[in-house]
Amino acid sequence: MPKAAEPSETPHSPSSAHEALALRGALALELINTETLDRGKQRDTLSSPEALARWWEDVCAHYPDQCGIAGAETPIIWTSDLLETIKTLRLALRTLVTHVVEQQVIENDELQPINAILALGYAALERTEQGAVKAAIHLRDPEQGRVLAPIALSALGFFTEADWRRLHQCRHDRCIVFFYDTTKSGTRRWCSPGCMNRARSIQHYQMTRKAAVLVST
Ligand SMILES: [Zn+2]
Repeated sequence: MPKAAEPSETPHSPSSAHEALALRGALALELINTETLDRGKQRDTLSSPEALARWWEDVCAHYPDQCGIAGAETPIIWTSDLLETIKTLRLALRTLVTHVVEQQVIENDELQPINAILALGYAALERTEQGAVKAAIHLRDPEQGRVLAPIALSALGFFTEADWRRLHQCRHDRCIVFFYDTTKSGTRRWCSPGCMNRARSIQHYQMTRKAAVLVST
């Protein structure tokens, strides 16, 4: 059965409008951020269909409400085809987020791969146990749609509702992670405390070196 959009008590329950939007885009951003830089080398978490299955399990443990969608009883078949389709979606999302962050023009063609995935699902009304009606998403291809549709829906909600000025790429020059700033001040610059500390220690090192050079001249 599809899940209702009822308030949840998950660890990611939003406490502010910014957090609610970050949660909305979580699946899309998590997918984009499966590509990382490790000591200057590009790393891909989604290296095989099995790795994709592990990533999805992990993401769904964090965001159960975002992952839950119609067709939950249909098993997901983790094939190379599904992996390739996910990577196509990831590339489209990365292009979109990059253009948003860099304030470049977004072309209709760039949205097409995301729209193709959205077409896997359709909205429907369903009767609840209490006799009311609720919105639900049904899938034309549950085997693949169970993974693809929630990510595309996350992107749809996020890119149409979020404050684009709060979307950033980590300022650490060896990090390519994108994040949504949920701070009150809206001044977050790094994806994680780790990146902030590394960036600050580099800055500190450069400043002390500069000071040392000035002293010795
Ligand atoms: Zn970072």
